Amino acid sequence: MFETLSDRLDKVFSGLRGKGRLTEADIDATAREIRIALLEADVALPVVRTFIAAVKERARGAEVSQALNPAQQVIKIVNEELVEILGGETRRLRYAKQSPTVIMLAGLQGAGKTTLAGKLGRWLKAQGHTPLLVAADLQRPNAVNQLSIVAGQAGVDVYAPEPGNGVGDPIRVAADSIEHARRTMHDVVVVDTAGRLGIDAELMAQAAGIRDVVQPDETLFVVDAMIGQDAVTTAEAFRDGVGFSGVVLTKLDGDARGGAALSVRYVTGQPIMFASTGEKLTDFDVFHPERMASRILG
Ligand code: GDP
Repeated sequence: MFETLSDRLDKVFSGLRGKGRLTEADIDATAREIRIALLEADVALPVVRTFIAAVKERARGAEVSQALNPAQQVIKIVNEELVEILGGETRRLRYAKQSPTVIMLAGLQGAGKTTLAGKLGRWLKAQGHTPLLVAADLQRPNAVNQLSIVAGQAGVDVYAPEPGNGVGDPIRVAADSIEHARRTMHDVVVVDTAGRLGIDAELMAQAAGIRDVVQPDETLFVVDAMIGQDAVTTAEAFRDGVGFSGVVLTKLDGDARGGAALSVRYVTGQPIMFASTGEKLTDFDVFHPERMASRILG
């Protein structure tokens, strides 16, 4: 996803190689080039501004170092600021003190929520949990079926309305699922919710209704990293309409420019917690800001 950005940054840094010391003009020119590279990668403007200001300030204040030449020093600063913009520390899932832990998934249709439910189910099971996937997406005719399929692949249980009864009330299904999980000793409930192609008031109200009855320990906003700048507006709409405690970036395997991935944490103030990198259930991992930064810097 970050090939173009990586190439651009690499060129910026090569321009600094061989320099004995960085002048003010070098720092300005480098900052300008990094700015262009980030904007071309579709990173949101406020994020770019903050990033560049931080890099410039630190580059100016950098001590002349025995160990690092100026190019290495700038790479180090850019790396550290990338980690910062991506959230700093890895943010782990918070489990409820009393089972079940409830994780609600929210996002646009096609973002990858149902696939993510399967991935999370598989991942939770591998961590020793007994997850229950809940089909509270009753909007899309095939969603219940699709969730049952991924649950089967993940080897975890699913809670869904009976076939033929798929037009039921998702809020009711979600509420009942928690009771069901308690009775059946599932310790983590993953609630898949309906998404629409665009943001709409009804979708937000339904998601907020589900949130109110299940009282999630984590609400994960699932966003397709391929949608570029739209990711930011979508994230803001979900933050205001439903609220969320973490972000899952999907389709990081795509060839989009990756700016969404770099913007969403800063814009929403919520950490990126997981990343999806393909259609298979194994294409999934905890999000590590420092690994992502290293990947961008090549
Ligand atoms: P939902 O509408 O949010 O539930 O989205 P789905 O889970 O149905 O996913 C929509 C499409 O995106 C499906 O074809 C998935 O296989 C695909 N998909 C989901 N996650 C990823 C990912 O990380 N990478 C790629 N390449 N495709 C994905």
